[in-house]
Amino acid sequence: MKKILILLLVLGAGFYALKKWSPGTLQKITQMLPRSTKGHTTPASQPSLPPAEPAPTSKPADSGTIPTPPAAPVQKAVAVDKAAQVVVLCYHRVEGKEGGTLSIAPELFEQHLQRLKDRGIAVISMQDFLAWRKNEKTIPPKCALITLDDGYVSAFENARPILKKFGYPWTYFIYTKFIASGGKSITWEQLATLRDEGVEIGAHTATHQSLRETRGKSPESYDAWLKEEIIGSKQLIEKKLGVRCAVFAYPEGRYNAKVLDMVKSAGFDASFTVYGQRVTHSANAEKIGRYAWYSRRPQDMELALNFSGPLSPSESEPPAAGELAAAMLLTQPANGDTISDSAPVLKANLGTLGEFDENTLTLRLSGVGPIPAKFDHENKIIEAKPPQPLKPGEYTVVVTAKAGGKKVETQWSFKVVPATGLNATLNR
Ligand SMILES: [Zn+2]
Repeated sequence: MKKILILLLVLGAGFYALKKWSPGTLQKITQMLPRSTKGHTTPASQPSLPPAEPAPTSKPADSGTIPTPPAAPVQKAVAVDKAAQVVVLCYHRVEGKEGGTLSIAPELFEQHLQRLKDRGIAVISMQDFLAWRKNEKTIPPKCALITLDDGYVSAFENARPILKKFGYPWTYFIYTKFIASGGKSITWEQLATLRDEGVEIGAHTATHQSLRETRGKSPESYDAWLKEEIIGSKQLIEKKLGVRCAVFAYPEGRYNAKVLDMVKSAGFDASFTVYGQRVTHSANAEKIGRYAWYSRRPQDMELALNFSGPLSPSESEPPAAGELAAAMLLTQPANGDTISDSAPVLKANLGTLGEFDENTLTLRLSGVGPIPAKFDHENKIIEAKPPQPLKPGEYTVVVTAKAGGKKVETQWSFKVVPATGLNATLNR
């Protein structure tokens, strides 16, 4: 009897509570729950955007204002502003001149953040960006994501206090072999502090080599290596920091079809290149463009800060021919290739060399010497043709350039054999 009485009381209380809770209250409670069940929570210190509101019907695409909530607080399906655009900024070292060409002075970094603020460009968190893409949350019409790459301690010591001052969320893409390796590298403890402050920690491979580097690897060992670089680095970050590592950045922004497959199977929500674009709602999740700061090319970042760069192609659109060709090409002839063409066009994608002074580019062919070469700045392709037909034999192409007073170099080899069979007969 007593048990039945208690049961009735509990049921009654439950019914009363349900009646009292409006749908709005329920929604508020759901919003308080962490989005991901795999360990990532949004800490309170992270500036959070309001829940999605129905988008105003006649909003000009580039108005800098935040959509106003409707008069009646009717909560229904999330209305996401699909016309919103996001620029993604990418920095490496925040330590002025001594950090080299990838470095920005803290004062200038602060000016960039101020310019975003002055222009009404809202800096959003990676989680808000991903939620917008999944139609779970809306974002202001003009937004920016701030990302830093590699794992330099200057992100912790110099960038962090400035970002804190503005209350801006940010994402740190790290390559795991660099962490706690001494010198200017950040430690796992410092990364844990950043995590606790709401910084999104993304993967940037294990060793930071170009993921298109197939030299000296069989197809099987290339696969295994990609797995270690992409999935291995994600898993290590998740294990060390107890988070879900949701995003990835390609070293030098370079990928090929195999890399894209591996990134897909790794389960990232978005992967970032360095082709600066205004990212639209339908942009391809595997190639989100970023504007990277290079001290010798400050105009790139100007496009981002002025919100004036090109729009990203959508998921269904093929990438621009030039971008695709550049992304797929490593060298021509391929390293280790055997060819029978005695007058091959020599080509290489120099994207993996990073930043260098184009005026110092030299292409040499073993047994021949320097050959005049053309350089396609946009796609980073160097191209040359041997002045005379090549005799059968082994050849090595050496491309060198200067970057910040240092020499950078790439080389590959191929073999020329005499044309045989039908070709040989025709050639005689
Ligand atoms: Zn990097």
